[in-house]
Amino acid sequence: MRIGLGYDIHRLVEDRKLILGGVEIPYELGLLGHSDADVLIHSIIDAILGSVALRDIGYHFPDTDEKYKNANSLELLKETKKLLLNEGYKIINIDSNIICQKPKLSPYIEEMRKNISQVLELKINQVSIKAKTNEKMDSMGNGLSISTNAIVLVESI
Ligand code: ZN
Repeated sequence: MRIGLGYDIHRLVEDRKLILGGVEIPYELGLLGHSDADVLIHSIIDAILGSVALRDIGYHFPDTDEKYKNANSLELLKETKKLLLNEGYKIINIDSNIICQKPKLSPYIEEMRKNISQVLELKINQVSIKAKTNEKMDSMGNGLSISTNAIVLVESI
């Protein structure tokens, strides 16, 4: 067995969609980024890559590449699963945090878990997502950004 850790943060800005875990969430601000800026999926991708020491998301899906402009991060997650499989590993479980003051995410968590478990061909109980506020402190707590952490356990096939 091996373990991987992921972290990501994106700015919240006007005129962008807010997409988390492949779910479009109605809100006046969205996350800034080259792809769809799905900060949760990016952390999970980095955790999976980290578990088999395959560098990071920027190495495999560079934000200088036009191919990844407004890319659907769930597609990148699918590609990451193939990389993991090539190394001879499969996922046991994923746990994650979304640190977000606003909007309230609890109504969307189940759909996020469903999206991620479908793409990775896991059972829904292998994918955990927890939403937290940052108690109105710092950039996340002041609604300027959303950050995420993810951890994944993998085992050789
Ligand atoms: Zn990102």
